[in-house]
Amino acid sequence: MTPEKERLLAVLQERVPQLHLECAGYREEIERLRNWIADLQSGMFINCVYCGYRYGPDPGTPVAMAEVLKQHIEQCPDHPMSKLKNALTESVKLQSHYAKLLNMHDGGKRISFESPEAWMARLEEIRRR
Ligand SMILES: [Zn+2]
Repeated sequence: MTPEKERLLAVLQERVPQLHLECAGYREEIERLRNWIADLQSGMFINCVYCGYRYGPDPGTPVAMAEVLKQHIEQCPDHPMSKLKNALTESVKLQSHYAKLLNMHDGGKRISFESPEAWMARLEEIRRR
């Protein structure tokens, strides 16, 4: 190892414990801010910006407001994601139809997806390879 590399390695080895400490500090800060957000959200109303649906502050709500909003977004008829989900559902129906037709025609083994979730799971599977 050259003297320059040895010098750099020494600098890095000296710096690593300090970086670990700094990371721990950032993690604590993130946790503190998350708790703050949860506190702020617990005492206020949240509206869906797409359809205006309003969520109370409701002490009986078992899940955090952010989670409630997430659940709403998944089924909000006016959220742009709804249009994408509908388009995806129709696309997967077409895919399924044509996969079956082509398999009948040439005896192939194309997958006919039953749902967008099944198709996305397959994409994830392929991506992980
Ligand atoms: Zn909405």
